[in-house]
Amino acid sequence: MTGRVVVLTGGVGGAKLVLGLAHLIAPEAITAIVNTGDDFRHLGLAISPDIDTLLYTLSGKANGAQGWGREGETWQFMDALRSLGGEDWFNLGDGDLALHIERSAALARGETLSAITRRFGEAWGVRTRMLPMSDDPVATHLATDIGDLPFQRYFVEHRCAPAVGAIRFDGADGASPAPGVIEAIRDPATRAILIAPSNPYLSVDPILAVPGIRRALEAAEAPIVAVSPIVGGKAVKGPTAKLMAELGVAPTPAAVAAHYAGILDGLLVDERDATIDLVIPYDRADTLMTTLDDRVRVAHAALALAERLAR
Ligand code: GDP
Repeated sequence: MTGRVVVLTGGVGGAKLVLGLAHLIAPEAITAIVNTGDDFRHLGLAISPDIDTLLYTLSGKANGAQGWGREGETWQFMDALRSLGGEDWFNLGDGDLALHIERSAALARGETLSAITRRFGEAWGVRTRMLPMSDDPVATHLATDIGDLPFQRYFVEHRCAPAVGAIRFDGADGASPAPGVIEAIRDPATRAILIAPSNPYLSVDPILAVPGIRRALEAAEAPIVAVSPIVGGKAVKGPTAKLMAELGVAPTPAAVAAHYAGILDGLLVDERDATIDLVIPYDRADTLMTTLDDRVRVAHAALALAERLAR
């Protein structure tokens, strides 16, 4: 497929697809629009977990086994912090810390998150274009059975255990898309817009909550294809299926398609799942991305579906 590809993505699940894409087509032709609803301030530092996961994954620095952070990380900072009685519920490796310190300093100097992200990508030889969804702060909060929790408190400190009743994205209403986001969606050279198999509620919804982005997607010429994050009725990792149950939604491809109603043209469904009540065009594939070959195969299947829908 020639032309450009846009992909909406969160962290780990999304980065798998983006890495596959970057091995399938020219990385320069890919624009990843990344969730920043997980971003937060911790110990005075600006942390952007999904951008960092993508940076680490695409630059070959990710710790694949652990599923987050850097390969070969050391933990002297955390040990010292703990010895001082500091807050230790969020792990910050020594190498990871450099990223957050440099980003925090740059933000304090007035650099935008998108400019910083571009600079970090260039420094580490990442040719895929990575754009935060917005340079304005957006913060995901969850109303749970133990009270209101900011995203990282829910996800990391409480390990997604609290039952969720509602999710909101503080700041999204007034947030502008980061420079380049709308242009990439509208670019006549964009042949496909993919929604990665990221958590629809926690990773993709914050992106869609930025009003300008949803509008641009609704009006997009390029076909919009999502890869289902549900494999065999379950989430591969993380709270997607648990959240769906708590929100009263069955963990099925049809529910994923319904969630994206109004913007979605097609869904790549896992071959293990039933498609009986799916009312939009779809293809089936083994979407479990364990190896690099799997990632490339799933990216290929998603682009093939987009190509079929474009005709
Ligand atoms: P986070 O921001 O780091 O939590 O990660 P994402 O939101 O990007 O990804 C989490 C989602 O990715 C979960 O819903 C998983 O089910 C999904 N996921 C992870 N790995 C795979 C995979 O190999 N195949 C598919 N289809 N979905 C996956």
